[in-house]
Amino acid sequence: MFLFLLFQIIFDMISILYETKPQKGLLCNMSGKLYVVGTPIGNLSDFSPRAVETLQEVDFIAAEDTRVTIKLLNHFHIKKPMISYHEHNLREKGEYLISRILDGENCAIVSDAGMPCISDPGEDLVRLAALHNVETIVIPGPSAAISALCLSGLSTSRFSFEGFLSTNKNSRMEHLNQIKNDCHALIFYEAPHKLLTTLQDLESSLGNRRIAIARELTKVHQEVIRTTISESVTKYTDTTPKGEFVLIIEGAKEQEKTTFTLEEAISFARQLIADGAKPSDAAKEAAKETGWKKGDIYKGIL
Ligand code: SAM
Repeated sequence: MFLFLLFQIIFDMISILYETKPQKGLLCNMSGKLYVVGTPIGNLSDFSPRAVETLQEVDFIAAEDTRVTIKLLNHFHIKKPMISYHEHNLREKGEYLISRILDGENCAIVSDAGMPCISDPGEDLVRLAALHNVETIVIPGPSAAISALCLSGLSTSRFSFEGFLSTNKNSRMEHLNQIKNDCHALIFYEAPHKLLTTLQDLESSLGNRRIAIARELTKVHQEVIRTTISESVTKYTDTTPKGEFVLIIEGAKEQEKTTFTLEEAISFARQLIADGAKPSDAAKEAAKETGWKKGDIYKGIL
């Protein structure tokens, strides 16, 4: 009886250890976990108690910029080793971080502000974790995109996150061309020194739509300007933008999106041929205008 009780106590103790503590070391060789932790986008009071607890309890933190994260850790009296993990070292560091997690350590990934993985490092690490069957846990925090959308005053029922537009002129125009007929709200991030050029490009590609410009969210100088793209171009031609910006733009109006039948696309191409275009050029142009495949139009005009 005594032996049975002793075994029962030992068994219970091991079960408790397995349930509540990071599973590592000699007891078993199970993997640790990856915690994806959101951090404030300006107001430190937005850092959740669960996020604080998580950073206190993990073995180490993968931080986008350790100089930024140390300020957060100091504010919450957290002492924890950090490893820098950013877009320029994610390939080699990713493997290293995962190998430590597989050896039983728990890791939290944080970015400078907001949610990791959203225009910030994290996506690759989570993918790598999934590949190695490492459990990933999210500690959600604010994201500038969603915060701005909520204040935009525009329809929030459907939206797409477009991130930062490329600095390469062709790529950004191609990006805008792809989304110009989307009927849902569009969310962009932009740096202050590129804001005016971006607004001008948005105006020329999407036309003059309603826009909400959310600046310095959760900070002392938070501001949301609800205006039109053209008015915002005028405003920032006269005023130098300062701070961090999110742009929310209303989607295309349903009627702006013209739909063509294949017959209409073919007849459009035939008209171009009659005007002197080569059949393949006419099919290409008609495809661009109507959204049909060039091959289908080409077959139709032969
Ligand atoms: N991961 C972050 C998130 O979840 O929001 C975004 C990081 S991204 C590198 C930084 C961009 O987010 C800024 O250039 C700006 O467009 C936007 N942003 C971040 N904080 C902001 C704030 N407090 N107000 C407005 N925009 C902000």
